[in-house]
Amino acid sequence: MKIAAVHTHVLDHPLEQPFESASMRFERRQHCLVEIVCDDGTVGWGECLGPAPPNAAVVQAYAGSLVGRDPLETEPLWLELYNRLRDQGQRGLTVTALSGIDIALWDIKGKHFDAPVSLLLGGRFRERVRAYATGGFRKDGVDGAADLAAETRGYVDDGFHAVKIKIGFGVADDLHSIAAVREAIGPEPRLMIDANHGYDVLEAVELGRRAAAFDVDWFEEPVVPEQLDAYRAVRADQPIPVAGGETWHGRYAMHEPLTRRLVDIVQPDICGTGGFSEMRRVTDLAALYGVRCVPHVWGTAVALAASLQCLAAQAPNPPRRDPVEPILELDRTPNPLRHAIVTTPIEPVRGVVTVPDGPGLGIEVDRTRLDAFTLKEPR
Ligand code: CA
Repeated sequence: MKIAAVHTHVLDHPLEQPFESASMRFERRQHCLVEIVCDDGTVGWGECLGPAPPNAAVVQAYAGSLVGRDPLETEPLWLELYNRLRDQGQRGLTVTALSGIDIALWDIKGKHFDAPVSLLLGGRFRERVRAYATGGFRKDGVDGAADLAAETRGYVDDGFHAVKIKIGFGVADDLHSIAAVREAIGPEPRLMIDANHGYDVLEAVELGRRAAAFDVDWFEEPVVPEQLDAYRAVRADQPIPVAGGETWHGRYAMHEPLTRRLVDIVQPDICGTGGFSEMRRVTDLAALYGVRCVPHVWGTAVALAASLQCLAAQAPNPPRRDPVEPILELDRTPNPLRHAIVTTPIEPVRGVVTVPDGPGLGIEVDRTRLDAFTLKEPR
Protein backbone atom coordinates (compact mmCIF):
# COMPACT_ATOMS: atom_id res chain seq x y z
CA MET A 1 0.00 0.00 0.00
CA LYS A 2 1.32 3.42 -0.99
CA ILE A 3 0.05 6.96 -0.50
CA ALA A 4 -1.40 8.19 -3.80
CA ALA A 5 -2.65 11.68 -2.87
CA VAL A 6 -3.01 14.15 0.00
CA HIS A 7 -6.03 16.44 -0.13
CA THR A 8 -7.06 19.28 2.16
CA HIS A 9 -10.63 20.43 2.75
CA VAL A 10 -11.25 23.86 4.23
CA LEU A 11 -14.74 23.63 5.70
CA ASP A 12 -16.70 26.77 6.43
CA HIS A 13 -19.90 27.57 8.28
CA PRO A 14 -21.00 31.19 8.83
CA LEU A 15 -22.54 31.66 12.28
CA GLU A 16 -25.96 33.22 12.67
CA GLN A 17 -24.94 34.49 16.10
CA PRO A 18 -21.24 35.42 16.39
CA PHE A 19 -19.60 34.76 19.77
CA GLU A 20 -16.42 35.66 21.59
CA SER A 21 -13.86 34.31 23.99
CA ALA A 22 -11.37 36.65 25.68
CA SER A 23 -8.90 36.18 22.83
CA MET A 24 -11.01 35.55 19.74
CA ARG A 25 -14.24 36.51 17.99
CA PHE A 26 -15.99 33.82 15.94
CA GLU A 27 -18.04 35.04 12.95
CA ARG A 28 -17.79 31.63 11.26
CA ARG A 29 -16.47 28.16 11.99
CA GLN A 30 -13.65 27.00 9.74
CA HIS A 31 -11.79 23.73 10.09
CA CYS A 32 -9.15 22.01 7.94
CA LEU A 33 -9.56 18.31 7.20
CA VAL A 34 -6.80 16.17 5.71
CA GLU A 35 -7.71 13.33 3.36
CA ILE A 36 -5.00 10.83 2.46
CA VAL A 37 -5.83 8.44 -0.39
CA CYS A 38 -3.89 5.20 -0.94
CA ASP A 39 -3.32 3.30 -4.16
CA ASP A 40 -5.55 0.43 -2.96
CA GLY A 41 -8.45 2.83 -2.38
CA THR A 42 -8.06 3.13 1.40
CA VAL A 43 -8.82 6.66 2.59
CA GLY A 44 -7.79 8.21 5.91
CA TRP A 45 -9.11 11.40 7.51
CA GLY A 46 -7.41 13.82 9.86
CA GLU A 47 -7.97 17.33 11.18
CA CYS A 48 -5.73 20.28 12.06
CA LEU A 49 -6.39 22.57 15.03
CA GLY A 50 -6.41 26.29 14.31
CA PRO A 51 -6.92 28.55 11.29
CA ALA A 52 -7.95 26.39 8.37
CA PRO A 53 -6.48 27.98 5.21
CA PRO A 54 -2.95 28.32 6.71
CA ASN A 55 -3.14 24.74 7.99
CA ALA A 56 -4.14 23.55 4.51
CA ALA A 57 -1.16 25.37 3.01
CA VAL A 58 1.30 23.71 5.41
CA VAL A 59 -0.26 20.27 4.83
CA GLN A 60 0.27 20.80 1.11
CA ALA A 61 3.88 21.78 1.78
CA TYR A 62 4.36 18.39 3.47
CA ALA A 63 2.38 16.44 0.84
CA GLY A 64 5.22 15.95 -1.61
CA SER A 65 7.13 13.91 0.98
CA LEU A 66 4.15 11.58 1.49
CA VAL A 67 3.13 10.51 -2.01
CA GLY A 68 4.55 7.10 -2.88
CA ARG A 69 5.30 6.24 0.76
CA ASP A 70 3.92 3.43 2.95
CA PRO A 71 1.18 5.02 5.12
CA LEU A 72 1.70 2.45 7.89
CA GLU A 73 5.18 3.85 8.62
CA THR A 74 3.78 6.48 10.96
CA GLU A 75 6.89 7.07 13.10
CA PRO A 76 9.40 7.47 10.23
CA LEU A 77 6.96 9.75 8.41
CA TRP A 78 6.25 11.84 11.54
CA LEU A 79 9.94 12.37 12.20
CA GLU A 80 10.73 13.15 8.59
CA LEU A 81 7.98 15.76 8.30
CA TYR A 82 8.73 17.32 11.69
CA ASN A 83 12.39 17.53 10.83
CA ARG A 84 11.69 19.17 7.49
CA LEU A 85 10.31 22.34 9.13
CA ARG A 86 11.89 21.93 12.55
CA ASP A 87 14.34 24.84 12.29
CA GLN A 88 11.52 27.36 11.77
CA GLY A 89 8.59 25.54 13.30
CA GLN A 90 8.86 23.74 16.62
CA ARG A 91 5.24 24.60 17.40
CA GLY A 92 2.27 26.26 15.76
CA LEU A 93 1.06 25.58 12.23
CA THR A 94 3.93 23.25 11.39
CA VAL A 95 2.81 20.90 14.16
CA THR A 96 -0.95 21.40 13.78
CA ALA A 97 -0.64 20.53 10.07
CA LEU A 98 1.48 17.49 10.92
CA SER A 99 -1.20 16.50 13.45
CA GLY A 100 -3.86 16.30 10.74
CA ILE A 101 -1.58 14.17 8.57
CA ASP A 102 -0.69 11.80 11.42
CA ILE A 103 -4.35 11.32 12.38
CA ALA A 104 -5.20 10.45 8.76
CA LEU A 105 -2.32 7.95 8.63
CA TRP A 106 -3.57 6.25 11.82
CA ASP A 107 -7.09 6.14 10.35
CA ILE A 108 -5.58 4.30 7.37
CA LYS A 109 -3.66 1.99 9.70
CA GLY A 110 -6.86 1.12 11.56
CA LYS A 111 -8.74 0.45 8.35
CA HIS A 112 -5.86 -1.66 7.04
CA PHE A 113 -5.82 -3.84 10.16
CA ASP A 114 -9.61 -3.64 10.58
CA ALA A 115 -9.29 -2.30 14.13
CA PRO A 116 -10.16 0.97 15.89
CA VAL A 117 -7.13 3.17 16.51
CA SER A 118 -7.67 2.78 20.26
CA LEU A 119 -6.97 -0.94 19.92
CA LEU A 120 -3.80 -0.28 17.93
CA LEU A 121 -2.70 2.16 20.66
CA GLY A 122 -2.78 -0.71 23.14
CA GLY A 123 -6.42 -1.25 23.93
CA ARG A 124 -9.51 0.34 25.37
CA PHE A 125 -9.76 1.10 29.07
CA ARG A 126 -13.34 2.29 28.55
CA GLU A 127 -16.13 2.18 25.98
CA ARG A 128 -17.87 5.35 27.13
CA VAL A 129 -16.63 8.73 28.29
CA ARG A 130 -18.42 11.36 30.31
CA ALA A 131 -18.44 14.67 28.48
CA TYR A 132 -18.33 18.17 29.83
CA ALA A 133 -20.21 20.89 27.99
CA THR A 134 -18.05 23.68 26.58
CA GLY A 135 -19.91 26.88 25.84
CA GLY A 136 -20.52 30.04 27.76
CA PHE A 137 -19.10 32.37 25.14
CA ARG A 138 -20.08 36.04 25.01
CA LYS A 139 -22.66 37.13 22.44
CA ASP A 140 -23.64 40.54 21.13
CA GLY A 141 -26.72 42.30 22.43
CA VAL A 142 -27.59 40.05 25.36
CA ASP A 143 -27.20 40.29 29.13
CA GLY A 144 -24.03 38.24 29.61
CA ALA A 145 -24.68 36.75 33.04
CA ALA A 146 -28.35 35.93 32.40
CA ASP A 147 -27.48 34.40 29.03
CA LEU A 148 -24.72 32.26 30.56
CA ALA A 149 -27.01 31.15 33.38
CA ALA A 150 -29.75 30.01 30.98
CA GLU A 151 -27.29 28.29 28.64
CA THR A 152 -25.46 26.33 31.33
CA ARG A 153 -28.72 25.38 33.07
CA GLY A 154 -29.73 23.86 29.74
CA TYR A 155 -26.59 21.70 29.64
CA VAL A 156 -27.26 20.41 33.15
CA ASP A 157 -30.87 19.68 32.20
CA ASP A 158 -29.50 17.70 29.22
CA GLY A 159 -27.58 15.49 31.64
CA PHE A 160 -24.09 17.01 31.60
CA HIS A 161 -22.23 16.63 34.88
CA ALA A 162 -19.92 19.56 34.15
CA VAL A 163 -19.95 22.84 32.23
CA LYS A 164 -17.26 25.29 31.19
CA ILE A 165 -17.73 28.99 30.57
CA LYS A 166 -15.53 31.68 29.08
CA ILE A 167 -14.09 34.41 31.26
CA GLY A 168 -11.29 36.94 30.81
CA PHE A 169 -13.55 39.98 30.38
CA GLY A 170 -12.52 41.76 33.59
CA VAL A 171 -12.52 40.49 37.17
CA ALA A 172 -15.76 42.11 38.35
CA ASP A 173 -17.67 41.14 35.22
CA ASP A 174 -16.39 37.57 35.37
CA LEU A 175 -17.24 37.14 39.05
CA HIS A 176 -20.77 38.33 38.33
CA SER A 177 -21.06 35.71 35.55
CA ILE A 178 -19.56 32.89 37.62
CA ALA A 179 -21.95 33.62 40.50
CA ALA A 180 -24.94 33.66 38.14
CA VAL A 181 -23.93 30.34 36.57
CA ARG A 182 -23.33 28.64 39.90
CA GLU A 183 -26.71 29.78 41.12
CA ALA A 184 -28.36 28.55 37.88
CA ILE A 185 -26.79 25.08 37.83
CA GLY A 186 -26.95 24.43 41.57
CA PRO A 187 -24.23 23.09 43.86
CA GLU A 188 -23.62 19.65 42.30
CA PRO A 189 -22.46 20.12 38.67
CA ARG A 190 -18.78 20.80 38.13
CA LEU A 191 -18.01 24.29 36.84
CA MET A 192 -14.86 25.20 34.95
CA ILE A 193 -13.72 28.66 33.81
CA ASP A 194 -11.55 29.41 30.75
CA ALA A 195 -9.86 32.80 30.43
CA ASN A 196 -8.34 32.07 26.99
CA HIS A 197 -5.23 33.84 28.30
CA GLY A 198 -7.09 37.11 28.74
CA TYR A 199 -5.52 38.02 32.10
CA ASP A 200 -2.19 39.06 33.50
CA VAL A 201 -0.96 37.46 36.72
CA LEU A 202 -2.40 40.04 39.12
CA GLU A 203 -5.87 39.83 37.61
CA ALA A 204 -5.77 36.03 37.41
CA VAL A 205 -4.76 35.72 41.05
CA GLU A 206 -7.48 38.11 42.18
CA LEU A 207 -10.10 36.32 40.06
CA GLY A 208 -9.00 32.90 41.30
CA ARG A 209 -9.05 33.91 44.96
CA ARG A 210 -12.54 35.41 44.70
CA ALA A 211 -14.02 32.76 42.35
CA ALA A 212 -12.97 29.88 44.58
CA ALA A 213 -16.06 30.53 46.73
CA PHE A 214 -18.17 29.30 43.79
CA ASP A 215 -16.52 25.86 43.81
CA VAL A 216 -14.70 26.11 40.49
CA ASP A 217 -13.16 22.88 39.23
CA TRP A 218 -10.36 24.39 37.16
CA PHE A 219 -9.09 27.74 35.89
CA GLU A 220 -8.03 27.31 32.26
CA GLU A 221 -5.42 29.36 30.38
CA PRO A 222 -5.32 32.19 32.94
CA VAL A 223 -2.34 33.88 31.24
CA VAL A 224 -0.61 33.79 27.85
CA PRO A 225 0.86 30.38 27.08
CA GLU A 226 4.46 31.52 26.54
CA GLN A 227 4.74 32.92 30.09
CA LEU A 228 5.52 29.76 32.00
CA ASP A 229 6.60 31.59 35.13
CA ALA A 230 3.30 33.47 35.09
CA TYR A 231 1.59 30.07 35.17
CA ARG A 232 3.74 29.20 38.15
CA ALA A 233 2.71 32.38 39.95
CA VAL A 234 -1.02 31.90 39.26
CA ARG A 235 -0.86 28.30 40.42
CA ALA A 236 0.99 29.29 43.60
CA ASP A 237 -1.04 32.35 44.59
CA GLN A 238 -4.69 31.34 44.18
CA PRO A 239 -6.53 28.18 45.21
CA ILE A 240 -8.27 26.94 42.01
CA PRO A 241 -6.46 24.15 40.09
CA VAL A 242 -4.88 25.54 36.92
CA ALA A 243 -5.38 23.96 33.48
CA GLY A 244 -3.65 24.66 30.17
CA GLY A 245 -1.71 23.28 27.27
CA GLU A 246 -3.91 23.45 24.16
CA THR A 247 -1.20 25.49 22.45
CA TRP A 248 1.82 23.64 23.82
CA HIS A 249 2.35 21.54 20.73
CA GLY A 250 4.32 18.34 21.02
CA ARG A 251 6.59 16.80 23.62
CA TYR A 252 9.17 19.58 23.52
CA ALA A 253 6.63 22.29 24.34
CA MET A 254 4.98 20.07 26.96
CA HIS A 255 8.18 19.07 28.70
CA GLU A 256 8.83 22.14 30.83
CA PRO A 257 5.24 22.75 32.01
CA LEU A 258 5.01 19.11 33.02
CA THR A 259 8.38 18.67 34.67
CA ARG A 260 7.89 21.91 36.60
CA ARG A 261 4.26 21.02 37.32
CA LEU A 262 3.05 24.44 36.15
CA VAL A 263 -0.47 23.13 35.62
CA ASP A 264 -2.66 20.74 37.59
CA ILE A 265 -4.47 19.62 34.44
CA VAL A 266 -2.79 19.44 31.04
CA GLN A 267 -4.93 19.79 27.92
CA PRO A 268 -3.17 18.51 24.79
CA ASP A 269 -5.26 18.58 21.61
CA ILE A 270 -4.66 15.62 19.31
CA CYS A 271 -5.21 17.89 16.29
CA GLY A 272 -2.56 20.31 17.56
CA THR A 273 0.02 18.45 19.57
CA GLY A 274 1.12 16.09 16.79
CA GLY A 275 -1.60 13.50 16.15
CA PHE A 276 -1.82 10.05 17.68
CA SER A 277 1.94 9.46 17.42
CA GLU A 278 2.85 12.47 19.56
CA MET A 279 -0.26 12.42 21.78
CA ARG A 280 0.94 9.07 23.14
CA ARG A 281 4.21 10.64 24.20
CA VAL A 282 2.48 13.66 25.73
CA THR A 283 0.03 11.55 27.75
CA ASP A 284 2.93 9.38 28.89
CA LEU A 285 4.81 12.49 30.03
CA ALA A 286 1.74 13.71 31.92
CA ALA A 287 1.42 10.35 33.66
CA LEU A 288 5.15 10.33 34.40
CA TYR A 289 4.93 13.67 36.20
CA GLY A 290 1.57 13.02 37.83
CA VAL A 291 -0.34 15.73 35.97
CA ARG A 292 -3.98 14.99 35.17
CA CYS A 293 -4.66 14.87 31.41
CA VAL A 294 -7.97 16.17 30.05
CA PRO A 295 -7.55 16.66 26.29
CA HIS A 296 -8.68 19.82 24.54
CA VAL A 297 -11.20 19.28 21.70
CA TRP A 298 -12.43 21.93 19.25
CA GLY A 299 -13.40 20.95 15.75
CA THR A 300 -15.44 18.67 13.51
CA ALA A 301 -16.59 15.07 13.85
CA VAL A 302 -13.08 14.01 12.78
CA ALA A 303 -11.43 15.76 15.75
CA LEU A 304 -14.12 14.36 18.03
CA ALA A 305 -13.62 10.79 16.82
CA ALA A 306 -9.82 11.02 17.05
CA SER A 307 -10.07 12.41 20.58
CA LEU A 308 -12.40 9.61 21.63
CA GLN A 309 -9.99 6.96 20.29
CA CYS A 310 -7.28 8.57 22.43
CA LEU A 311 -9.47 8.84 25.50
CA ALA A 312 -10.43 5.17 25.22
CA ALA A 313 -6.76 4.20 25.28
CA GLN A 314 -5.70 6.62 28.06
CA ALA A 315 -4.60 4.63 31.09
CA PRO A 316 -6.10 5.49 34.48
CA ASN A 317 -3.48 7.13 36.66
CA PRO A 318 -3.43 5.64 39.19
CA PRO A 319 -5.46 2.52 38.44
CA ARG A 320 -7.82 1.60 41.25
CA ARG A 321 -11.43 0.71 41.83
CA ASP A 322 -13.45 3.62 40.40
CA PRO A 323 -10.40 5.53 39.13
CA VAL A 324 -10.46 9.18 38.06
CA GLU A 325 -11.65 8.83 34.47
CA PRO A 326 -10.69 11.25 31.69
CA ILE A 327 -13.54 13.41 30.44
CA LEU A 328 -14.34 14.60 26.92
CA GLU A 329 -14.50 18.27 26.06
CA LEU A 330 -17.70 18.59 24.03
CA ASP A 331 -18.28 21.93 22.34
CA ARG A 332 -21.99 22.79 22.47
CA THR A 333 -21.92 25.98 20.37
CA PRO A 334 -23.76 25.77 17.04
CA ASN A 335 -21.56 23.97 14.50
CA PRO A 336 -22.99 21.53 11.93
CA LEU A 337 -19.45 20.35 11.10
CA ARG A 338 -19.53 18.40 14.38
CA HIS A 339 -22.27 16.08 13.10
CA ALA A 340 -23.36 16.78 9.50
CA ILE A 341 -20.24 15.51 7.71
CA VAL A 342 -20.39 11.90 8.94
CA THR A 343 -22.88 9.13 8.28
CA THR A 344 -23.33 8.37 12.00
CA PRO A 345 -22.94 11.47 14.18
CA ILE A 346 -21.30 11.19 17.59
CA GLU A 347 -23.84 12.54 20.06
CA PRO A 348 -23.99 12.49 23.86
CA VAL A 349 -26.73 10.64 25.71
CA ARG A 350 -27.33 12.31 29.09
CA GLY A 351 -23.80 13.70 28.92
CA VAL A 352 -22.11 10.40 28.04
CA VAL A 353 -20.48 9.62 24.67
CA THR A 354 -19.80 6.11 23.32
CA VAL A 355 -16.39 5.57 21.71
CA PRO A 356 -16.82 4.44 18.08
CA ASP A 357 -15.64 0.85 17.61
CA GLY A 358 -15.38 0.72 13.81
CA PRO A 359 -11.97 0.54 12.09
CA GLY A 360 -9.66 3.55 12.23
CA LEU A 361 -11.31 6.59 13.75
CA GLY A 362 -14.59 4.67 13.66
CA ILE A 363 -16.46 7.20 11.53
CA GLU A 364 -17.41 7.46 7.89
CA VAL A 365 -17.11 10.89 6.30
CA ASP A 366 -20.09 11.64 4.04
CA ARG A 367 -18.57 13.11 0.87
CA THR A 368 -21.83 14.59 -0.41
CA ARG A 369 -22.36 16.50 2.83
CA LEU A 370 -18.71 17.50 3.00
CA ASP A 371 -18.89 19.21 -0.38
CA ALA A 372 -21.68 21.47 0.85
CA PHE A 373 -19.34 22.96 3.48
CA THR A 374 -16.16 23.09 1.43
CA LEU A 375 -14.83 26.59 0.98
CA LYS A 376 -13.88 27.07 -2.67
CA GLU A 377 -12.13 30.40 -2.18
CA PRO A 378 -10.44 30.53 1.24
CA ARG A 379 -11.23 33.73 3.14
CA1 CA B 1 -9.63 26.55 26.16
